[in-house]
Amino acid sequence: MPKPFRRGGGRGRPRPGGSRGRANTRRGPFTPAFAEQGGNGVAVAARPIQLPPVMAVEELATILSLPAAAIISALIKNGIFATMNQMIDYDTAAVVAADLGFEASEQTVDADAGDDVAEEELTEEELMQLESRPAVVTVMGHVDHGKTSLLDRIRQTRVAHGEAGGITQHIGAYQVDVDVDGETRKITFLDTPGHEAFTAMRARGAQATDIAVLVVAADDGVMPQTAEAIDHARAAKVPIVVALNKMDRPDINPDRVKQQLADKGVIIEDYGGDVPLVEVSARTGDGIDNLLATIAIVADVAELTANPHRIASGLVVEAKLDKARGPVATVLVQRGTLKATDIVVIGPVTGKIRALVDDKGKRIKTAGPSMPVEILGLSAVPKAGDRLVVVPDEKTARQQAALYQRAAERSASSGSGGDVSLEDIYNRIKDGEVRDLNLVVKADVQGSIEPLVTSLQRLQEEGLRVKVIGSGTGNVTESDVMLASASKAIIVAFNVRAEPGARSAAETQHVDLRYYTIIYNVVDDVRKALVGLLGPRFEEIVHGHAEIRQLFPVRKGGAAAGCLVTDGQILRNDSARVKRGDRVLWEGKIGTLRRVKDDVREVASGYECGILLDGFSDFREGDVIESFGQREITAI
Ligand code: GDP
Repeated sequence: MPKPFRRGGGRGRPRPGGSRGRANTRRGPFTPAFAEQGGNGVAVAARPIQLPPVMAVEELATILSLPAAAIISALIKNGIFATMNQMIDYDTAAVVAADLGFEASEQTVDADAGDDVAEEELTEEELMQLESRPAVVTVMGHVDHGKTSLLDRIRQTRVAHGEAGGITQHIGAYQVDVDVDGETRKITFLDTPGHEAFTAMRARGAQATDIAVLVVAADDGVMPQTAEAIDHARAAKVPIVVALNKMDRPDINPDRVKQQLADKGVIIEDYGGDVPLVEVSARTGDGIDNLLATIAIVADVAELTANPHRIASGLVVEAKLDKARGPVATVLVQRGTLKATDIVVIGPVTGKIRALVDDKGKRIKTAGPSMPVEILGLSAVPKAGDRLVVVPDEKTARQQAALYQRAAERSASSGSGGDVSLEDIYNRIKDGEVRDLNLVVKADVQGSIEPLVTSLQRLQEEGLRVKVIGSGTGNVTESDVMLASASKAIIVAFNVRAEPGARSAAETQHVDLRYYTIIYNVVDDVRKALVGLLGPRFEEIVHGHAEIRQLFPVRKGGAAAGCLVTDGQILRNDSARVKRGDRVLWEGKIGTLRRVKDDVREVASGYECGILLDGFSDFREGDVIESFGQREITAI
């Protein structure tokens, strides 16, 4: 929507910039709208019109079917002196258009326009054009379990297969040939292992991966990042193939690993599930062929298709500024066939392709679906995860890039429209924008997670759609935030904090991060959100901490704590939390607060005090009492 129009305020901000592609110079007659509005000022219904984010004065004239002179004089009335070729932005154009009897709205960019069309929406002709395409695979798993070694080993198989060119270049992704039943098939591997890059892309609305290879070291078993990778792959609904690695080592225990996987809900085929597990050694190369064949079979089941005959689109998997070659981006073509002569837009970056280079460093003319290819000839270095689209000409490229830029600026200033918060979940579910409330649960100890997840899942029996898509122990990390962002989930931090990086990521990604210390409160909030009854939300403010130095028995039984306030202040009317190390022992109200013998309202840092808690005295010397209150957060 245009910003409020203020006549004559000189609000317009013409952008510097010379002439651009020659616009259509057709000059229409004065329209009735212009004549009536301009003639006697009698208001007539404004005509709706869509305008691009930037345009030359002359283009605006063409769009409004008015002489350029009319536009120029309307600009002058608004204090802007512009020539025919000068670029003006949408805000300025909207003000001028309003003066001339139009109600402008801005063209919005739909980066995925026509791109992620669900198969059922394809026409019969388009369905006929679908062809099977290679699977795109990401390798995930715990650090040091052998992800990089496995990717290197797989890359070498092409040398073993005697493929021309042999050694692959590191361009961010590569393809290998696999023989299955005498038929040669291709598999594309993304070269950045780990679920972080995978989920960062998903958080940006882009999914490149079809199959996740979960690498688990047979001597180490399921570790925290293995569990995270499982959550991330599941949240993305990507099938998993387990590569049980390091089988050459003497100290392995495959059965234990299989059981651990089952405990995480990954039931392998031997155990009656549908997840294939292949024993491999990235070091010796044993089992690698079997792994590749298994991936090919999983790809078959997934029936991966794309239409190679349409206009190409794809995703940037890696990009850099090369000293000799300029901006270079590796793009994974997802649909259509990219040609070495195409004109492309990647987010705010435009380009007339100068060369396409494959993963062996060879220049090629075309790249079809699932093929990774380096592109030369871009105006700047795009970001990984940005979408590439092919456009008919350079003018369209510039327009699209400007539209993208505007959309990005707007979502940065208003908060992206796609995020979810517990406050608005009810409306979003009602409006069909989201179907389930997805949660990522982090807690202090495993013992907290189980009852929490079970209680949340019990809500499903009440017909409420809650899904715990990830859970784990420890503080909230950036990776948790990415998972939540990619899956439109809310993070429940139970007795844990967020790492600083995670906190700022949650802010920029607009992820709702909520802290709890009582299971009942989590379940209650979620239930209320799902039935539209969530009340005002409170945020905790910690006022200070006191360390317990001595215990004094009290007459009524129990004990008072003799404390030293170590930071902030302790407030008589506050709530209190007793902590032993990282563990929270109790939470409740402060009963009595004393300085020497007097009841006081507050005690500041550096002073000693006596604290009696309402219903708890099982503390020890060295425990810490946290004094905290609550403040209401106004929902945005
Ligand atoms: P990543 O952190 O998952 O990428 O793990 P790396 O590929 O860097 O491997 C970690 C360590 O495990 C390295 O020292 C590798 O040499 C070793 N490693 C990887 N795969 C194997 C394997 O199959 N057998 C043995 N014995 N060692 C391996």
